[in-house]
Amino acid sequence: MTYDLVVHGGTVVNAGWSGPATVVVSGGTVVAVQDPALPLPPHERALDAGGRLVIPGGVDPHCHIGQRLGDYQQLDDYASASVAALHGGTTTVVDFAIPEPGQAPLAAVQERRELASASRCDTAMHGCVIAWEDGVAKQLAEMAELGVRTVKMFTTYRDVVMAGPDTVLEVLRALHELGGIGYVHAEANHVIEDAQEQAAAAHRTHARHHSYTRPELAEAAAVTEVLATAEHVGAPVYFVHQTTAEAVDLVRAARRRGVRAYTETCPHYLTLDSSVYDTEHPERFVCCPPLRGSSTVAALRARALAGDVDTLGSDHCCYSAGQKAEHRDDVRVMPNGLPGVETRLPVAFTELVARGGMPVERFVALFASNPARLNGLTGKGVIAPGADADLVVLDPSLTRTADANELHMATDYTPYQDRRLVGWPEAVVSAGRVVLDADGFHDPGPVGRALAADPIPEHLLT
Ligand SMILES: [Zn+2]
Repeated sequence: MTYDLVVHGGTVVNAGWSGPATVVVSGGTVVAVQDPALPLPPHERALDAGGRLVIPGGVDPHCHIGQRLGDYQQLDDYASASVAALHGGTTTVVDFAIPEPGQAPLAAVQERRELASASRCDTAMHGCVIAWEDGVAKQLAEMAELGVRTVKMFTTYRDVVMAGPDTVLEVLRALHELGGIGYVHAEANHVIEDAQEQAAAAHRTHARHHSYTRPELAEAAAVTEVLATAEHVGAPVYFVHQTTAEAVDLVRAARRRGVRAYTETCPHYLTLDSSVYDTEHPERFVCCPPLRGSSTVAALRARALAGDVDTLGSDHCCYSAGQKAEHRDDVRVMPNGLPGVETRLPVAFTELVARGGMPVERFVALFASNPARLNGLTGKGVIAPGADADLVVLDPSLTRTADANELHMATDYTPYQDRRLVGWPEAVVSAGRVVLDADGFHDPGPVGRALAADPIPEHLLT
């Protein structure tokens, strides 16, 4: 038998194990991870990973792709977002099907699944519930049958996507029965609305005042309430984009009480602080929750390095510098979110591994393995026989400067412009196809599969 591909000479890194090994690929699947001393089996193609790390392709659990939110259209689509993801070593993107006004959650999932057929890499989908109305329970069951078992709820953005506490309770309980998990954007809306009113009265709604309109304690307040709800109904819960050590600690404390509660954070909350709101273009850094003060960022980073963060999501939102600037005088109406699906790996690798000394196995857990498990994506986030052949070859000593002109996201800026970063992929294999190598990018066309989530396992690998 001749195998499609062998990746040899490198150090294979999984969340639970690493060491020199040869990865043998056939039919899009890893068929063997073998002793590097053994002769290479017959193969069509070989990638020399000598001196490099070979890590599982990234699973980005938090992407917004080409979504229209209010007046603003994100500039990418599944084709461009997935090409950018692959350049950044992410081989699975998970998007959100946020219903348009009046649209049912199931219909939103079906609509976005169709758009996802243009993807160059594999995709999965989170549903989103805004109100616990008649028929939602049945729709959640149908979504689970389609392989959508993760459902987002927002505790903020009243009259847009905000779900009340009764909705959060019902959805968490229903999802638990379906083998799923609720994903929650936790910021206490009444605190935010009051802070925004005060800011408006003081004429301080410009992007440079963004921090004051969404205070840190709004996050801890909402996390506390949602955790209590999850504990009450005995259901798991996943918090997207946590930004403070206090919020992370609440999740950890709940976990010690036996609650299946999880923390996601994003590269920007680990690496950028609110001093960027004092620069010439504060609007380019407006995201929700806001970037925090330097001591908060340092404390969050310490939690991540201590092992208290479970996943890294990009919270990718692709707006241009022009879109961000247009209404920068009012953060209540301007588009929020940062582009990041392509830079998740180098930004986080630089901060956590190169600077912070995080073991690379642990980094793989946050970047790929844990997001795969918390999305029910069996066969993702691990390099092992039977797993999908999603592989990233990277040189942990190779430094490159981030430059928006050289990135592939459908926008004209990056929050990391001119930063020196390590952890850029040199080669990427996606479902067995070599899409990036020394010769550049090889567009595989719209081959990405819409993955169906399995029931979510009770335990993480690490
Ligand atoms: Zn988001």
